[in-house]
This record gives sequence, C-alpha cells and structure tokens, in this order.
Amino acid sequence: MARYKVGDYKLRVGRSRTGRGVFACEDIPRDVCIDEYVGRVVKEEELANDRLKYLFSVSKKKMIDGNIPENRARFINHSCRPNCRAEGPNGRVFIMTKRKIKAGEEITYHYGKEYFDLILRKLGCKCVKCLEEKAAQRKSGAKRASATKRANAPKRANGAKRANGTKRTSGTKRASSTKRAGGTVTGSAKRAKRTGQSGHARV
Ligand SMILES: [Zn+2]
Repeated sequence: MARYKVGDYKLRVGRSRTGRGVFACEDIPRDVCIDEYVGRVVKEEELANDRLKYLFSVSKKKMIDGNIPENRARFINHSCRPNCRAEGPNGRVFIMTKRKIKAGEEITYHYGKEYFDLILRKLGCKCVKCLEEKAAQRKSGAKRASATKRANAPKRANGAKRANGTKRTSGTKRASSTKRAGGTVTGSAKRAKRTGQSGHARV
C-alpha cells in the first residue's frame, strides 16, 4: 500500500469561495497521496440522521462520518474539474493528486455522480468549471439576444453609420466578474441531503 502512504505535503484549511477549503502550501507532484479522509464508521440506524453532513460511503455497506477534528480532508471542496481524486481501497479513502498542483491552489476532487445529481445539480454547482460554463452561456445568450435585436431593428438610411456600432455585444468583463459569484457548496464527500446550506460565511 505504498501508494497510499500520505505524503508530507503542506496543506492548509482556509477560506474559499464556498466557505472553507483546503489549499496547497507548496508545489505538489502528480499522482501522490496528500491526505486521508478519516472518520467514524456509521451504523445503519444512524443514517436517517440528517445532521450527518460528512458522510462518505467507502464501500457498498460501509459509511464513515468524517466530522471529526482530525479529518482535515472534510474541508476539501467538490469540483467538476478537480485536481485530485478520492480513491477508496479497503474501506479507506485517500486523496490523490491527478496532476501537478501549484502552491496556493485549492485542492478539489469530484464528489461523485450520485452526490452531484442529488445535491449539487439542484443547488447549482459553484465550482470554477461550472461558473465558467455559466458565464460562457450568458455570453452567448447575450450575443444571440443582441443579434435578434439587430435583425429586428429598423434599417437605417444609407450612410448613417454609428460610431461605436454593435460590436460590443457580449461583454467579456461580465464573464470575469461572475467568477466571483460565490456560493455555498461546502465541505466534502458524499454528504447527506442538507449539505450546501449549512451557514458558512460567504467570502
Ligand atoms: Zn461544477
């Protein structure tokens, strides 16, 4: 299990766009283990408890509750374009880098399709990838809208050229400002239904 020995890489918990997050304090190579998601095994009868927010299913039958102080990995946020992945051999969960990570970057992994469909999709995922996509959609939507406008506009008489014309339609400025839109997709792993609404302060 040498692959899953947690390396001595400096990470810190800090404020992220979505509450708290985990950040690299130094450059970290690709395909190394940076943390273990640890927790307490949850009994089946506890699963109905909505307050368990850091659940992680480590096998078909076994769930762990990562809400214990030693589990720094519970603060790692979801991303649809993550720089890490969670690997779960033998009922344990290790956070592995998918690519080189630069000092200062936020650590992220994908929480899994099920979690995404069940929770993040409804809330609106606030990861960088999704925010970029939304910004791009807005941009092309704006383009379409203004193109229609132009088409419907009454035709000008010849020679009535407008100085600053219709080229400035789509607004790259807007796109970059929406990146800072913030959000509340907090915490980690495959948490129970109430996630994302726990009142972390927005940055
Ligand atoms: Zn996303």
